[in-house]
Amino acid sequence: MTTETETRTFQAETRELLDLMIHSLYSHKEIFLRELISNASDAIDRLRFAALTESDLRDSSHRPRIRLETFPDAKTLIIDDNGIGMSRDEIIENIGTIARSGTREFAKAMAAAKAENESGDADAPELIGQFGVGFYSVFMVADEVVVVTRKAGTEEGTRWTSSGDGEYTIETCEKAEPGTRITLHLKKPPESADDEEQPDEIVDFTQEWNLREVVKRYSDFVEYPIEMDVERTQKKGDDDDAEEETVIETVTLNSMKPLWVRSKSDITAEEYKEFYHHVSHDWAEPLETIHFKAEGTHEYTALLYLPKTRPMDLLDPSHDKSRLSLYVKRVFVMADCEELVPSWLRFVRGLVDSDDLPLNVSRETLQHNRQVGRIRTRVVKKVLGAMKTMVTDRRSDYIDYWKAFGMVLKEGIVTDHEHRDELAGLSLFGSTHGAELTTLGEYVERMP
Ligand code: ADP
Repeated sequence: MTTETETRTFQAETRELLDLMIHSLYSHKEIFLRELISNASDAIDRLRFAALTESDLRDSSHRPRIRLETFPDAKTLIIDDNGIGMSRDEIIENIGTIARSGTREFAKAMAAAKAENESGDADAPELIGQFGVGFYSVFMVADEVVVVTRKAGTEEGTRWTSSGDGEYTIETCEKAEPGTRITLHLKKPPESADDEEQPDEIVDFTQEWNLREVVKRYSDFVEYPIEMDVERTQKKGDDDDAEEETVIETVTLNSMKPLWVRSKSDITAEEYKEFYHHVSHDWAEPLETIHFKAEGTHEYTALLYLPKTRPMDLLDPSHDKSRLSLYVKRVFVMADCEELVPSWLRFVRGLVDSDDLPLNVSRETLQHNRQVGRIRTRVVKKVLGAMKTMVTDRRSDYIDYWKAFGMVLKEGIVTDHEHRDELAGLSLFGSTHGAELTTLGEYVERMP
């Protein structure tokens, strides 16, 4: 066991990114909490999935939860999850390095945006979203971050500490339970009065009401309870003049009601959007939301999103399959379920929740399951339907969509005989007729 503290430097791109994060004037700093809660929720999902196949990870007493702990005097906020945790190598890989391709491009794009626009504010969220820099957003609000994590199935914990200034330290430590505990030493508001205070600079993220509001706004539908201990004063007896006492009460900040279960008419555009951020880790808005329920012999619900921008790993061969999650009766079963969509729709985000599949479905059973085959057919049909509507009603959006995903959709023309003609009809091409891209059908119509 190595116990000594090791100091490492961030990968050059990560350093650049951190610097931009810290100095960005991005006005919704509270989204750091959404990012950490999404990561925590993903980590619990992953533990549950791993436990399906690795019996030593199964623990009937495990009650998944995310906890917020606050220390207002010390200006400290802790986010603690009992998910899968990370090994020492994983934390170096995941947090010290930006593994995803495109980080350098991100740094460049962000620097360019800043140069163009003094504040750099306008484009920051869009840019950040495209490149998925989730965890690093903590440095918008914290000047020191300590991550203590222990991978489920191992005994050793790891402590990772950084001030976001180019270096981090890493050491072995004790941790009683598997999972991840992130301590944020929050930035203090500027002391001198002549500093121009920005309203969002002074939000105190150790205060119950601020946390409640942020959780409600961004993470209400998270499936696991987000808990926090709060102080309440109550009367010691029933009498009006009874003495008051302070008690500690654990409250759950989110409703945990899965969004897709609610009826469409009850869901606001804002809620759909927040759920998209949660499932996709994309900070931009979705281009199109498709929510439908199939009723009858087989019941399932699908909530699908077409993104606006191309994720940087769209062409990464190690990630060339679906990005849809599979749920069974509201319970997360697996991420990236490739049986649900063909590879040429791998940019579609969201989930399918089936009422009929068994909870312990394996990848092998899914491949031969007729019910899954039907879901897949319907999902493709819905996406193609949305594209057909867009191509006529929202041409400029569709052109952007085509520019972002056309290269992948064209794979479908080659590989998917069933949808070849339909896809070809939805393809756009350059023509000498004006600057706009055109469909083949329109081209033929114009032909003298
Ligand atoms: P993203 O979540 O978009 O992949 P992040 O920078 O937020 O990007 O996180 C990077 C990676 O670090 C995650 O993909 C995950 O593997 C790991 N990670 C982050 N937070 C946690 C956590 N609470 N528990 C386990 N792993 C985590």
